[in-house]
Amino acid sequence: MARLANKVALITGAASGLGAECARAMAAEGAAVLLTDRDPAGQDVADAITAAGGRAAFAAHDVSSDQQWADAVRTCLARFGRLDILVNNAGISGGRHALADHDLEAWRQIMSINLDGVFLGLRHVGGVMAAQGSGSVINLSSILGKVGLANAAAYCASKGAVLMLTKAAAVEWAPLGIRVNSVHPGFIDTPMVQNALHQAENGNEMRDLLISAHPLGRFGVPREIADAVVFLASDEASFMAGAELVVDGGYTAQ
Ligand code: NAP
Repeated sequence: MARLANKVALITGAASGLGAECARAMAAEGAAVLLTDRDPAGQDVADAITAAGGRAAFAAHDVSSDQQWADAVRTCLARFGRLDILVNNAGISGGRHALADHDLEAWRQIMSINLDGVFLGLRHVGGVMAAQGSGSVINLSSILGKVGLANAAAYCASKGAVLMLTKAAAVEWAPLGIRVNSVHPGFIDTPMVQNALHQAENGNEMRDLLISAHPLGRFGVPREIADAVVFLASDEASFMAGAELVVDGGYTAQ
């Protein structure tokens, strides 16, 4: 029996990287998946899942917009009839900023996507999952929600806030049958990391330095995060609420 049979998942930021891999992995486990993203390339990911025999659809969706969240949840219910799993995955690195010179607009943009986007997602699915009496929400935080990185204050602050938002939601919603957990990836080989290294002056040097910070001696691959997300979404994680699932090759063990 597929581990997510009869379940419906909404995954944000699913045009690329971890979100696309989570969509493929969840569909392979039997879930119907609504992929959402501000990037219309999410349609291609959904089409490929459908061509491989899965159930998937795509909706354009900016997670920082309250109205677009309402539309995305309505689309999911109209298309698939219910909503069992929300993966709050969409996020941006926001670039490198020395704290003393940090532009306020850049700070607000990172917060509006990485933190407000997760808050809005929770707010929009809460009523639906409460009415069903069940649900699983997985929030993509980061190791950088647990430990600091120079020149990434807004990203670290946003991901640390996602960690605590997850715990507050988990405590509030556990009695309703809704489990909320966070995942904390180390550096994973996705377009977000590839683009950041490409844009850096000393990209190769930075890559080597970052790899050496992972005791397993490499970056992770998207599948290793998707496996953790599928686990949290499934009934195998039925006693997990408010957990911080760290998948980081040992980065934060040191
Ligand atoms: P990615 O390859 O850049 O994919 C992120 C996707 O989210 C992109 O398609 C992006 O579209 C989309 N997105 C950005 N802002 C959005 C918005 N406002 N509304 C809707 N979609 C939006 O990044 P990734 O590496 O897969 O990261 C996924 C999540 O994991 C992020 O929350 C990230 O912070 C977290 N994470 C990643 C790593 C890592 O090492 N890769 C580590 C820890 C945590 P655009 O291309 O238009 O921006």
